[in-house]
Amino acid sequence: MSAPFTPITPEVSAGLFARAAEVIPGGVNSPVRAFNSVGGTPRFMVSAQGPWLTDADGLRYVDLVSSWGPMILGHAHPAVVDAVRSAAGSGLSFGAPTPAEIELAEAIIDRVAPVEQVRLVNSGTEAVMSAIRLARGITGRTVLVKFAGCYHGHVDALLAQAGSGVATLGLPTSPGVTGAQAGDTVVVPYNDLEAVRQVFAERGSEIACVITEAAAGNMGAVAPRPGFNQGLRDITREHGALLVIDEVMTGFRVSPAGWFGLEGVAGDLYTFGKVMSGGLPAAAFGGPAAHMAHLAPAGPVYQAGTLSGNPVAVAAGLATLRQADKAVYDALDANAERLVGMIGGALREAGVPHRVQTAGNMFSIFFTEDEVVDYETAKAAQTWRFPPFFHALLERGVYAPPSNFEAWFVSAALDDDTFAVIEKALPDAARAAAAAVQPA
Ligand code: PLP
Repeated sequence: MSAPFTPITPEVSAGLFARAAEVIPGGVNSPVRAFNSVGGTPRFMVSAQGPWLTDADGLRYVDLVSSWGPMILGHAHPAVVDAVRSAAGSGLSFGAPTPAEIELAEAIIDRVAPVEQVRLVNSGTEAVMSAIRLARGITGRTVLVKFAGCYHGHVDALLAQAGSGVATLGLPTSPGVTGAQAGDTVVVPYNDLEAVRQVFAERGSEIACVITEAAAGNMGAVAPRPGFNQGLRDITREHGALLVIDEVMTGFRVSPAGWFGLEGVAGDLYTFGKVMSGGLPAAAFGGPAAHMAHLAPAGPVYQAGTLSGNPVAVAAGLATLRQADKAVYDALDANAERLVGMIGGALREAGVPHRVQTAGNMFSIFFTEDEVVDYETAKAAQTWRFPPFFHALLERGVYAPPSNFEAWFVSAALDDDTFAVIEKALPDAARAAAAAVQPA
């Protein structure tokens, strides 16, 4: 990292990171946590309350990551903690159906109209992997179409030109993915309907599904252009392929019904995670009953999980969805708008080329004057300005996503005290971005 700044290294976190690196690859259990693209030492967190995180050195941060999306209510919300305590006290796992699983399924179905049935799983990756298998099982076809810069978890077939950590680490795809898996995936530019039409013109009868993030968040926040998702809907329908809409990130965050609630374009299959898990490992995939009937035990497409529908995770998800009323969504939108205004103002003041792009109440900062519409334009931004910007915020008590290719996630718990911390930190951070030097 040739940027002319030296990130502060808190002693306890540094010691823990060294110890972690001995026993955990790269010292972390998910790559972006390692700070590889911003440099410096990841903070080891020990507790969180409302909008605040506290690290092992006792330093406090305003949390703008929200566990990468789930924590819309803020941390350790009393109603969620009570629900988890109560569920845990009644047994951690039964390996048998429970009444609460029905309630969580109903809560999801009530919110997202095109979804009539859901199957609960343990992670967004698993939800996507299962939805893809189902799409192939229903259509009898093999080819998947995905968009460059979109991330759908670490599903083998979907790691090609993926966003999130794959983009952060600059990987074209991953070793370990077989040629056959990669060969069944066609990658096209995001927001480019003409490219999608061309792929269908060439291989339409082989394509099982198009999978898209409902609004891209994993190359940074890049909203679909007006008509893009509808165009995908029309093209897939015309060719007998399914449209899989990945709402793992947007679901129950950008509105009670996720991106579907903002745009109203219906997919054939949906994937959910993050918010509906309340912060515990839970996720789901779903769609019309006729599609879901292909799943075992009702149908032949196999899918299963020892801990699927885990009672503690289900309790956290249900409690979170029940707390997420209009006031919460109003607060999420208002907090995002306030933050976007503050960040844009500070960067303008410092004279840095930038765009603060939004997708609902998710947003990202791109150091460029050009609109970012896809992965190429995201990568073309001056990403080298991000590390000093990030560390200036971090050292002033603001925990932003440690990568330029990620969305920022607000919670409804942000209050005037936290905004005061952010407001104080931003001018220095913007100046640090302005002073950044492009690596040779
Ligand atoms: N899909 C999208 C849109 C995501 O953003 C993510 C994770 O960030 C996933 C799928 C994978 O979810 P998980 O990390 O729970 O496996």
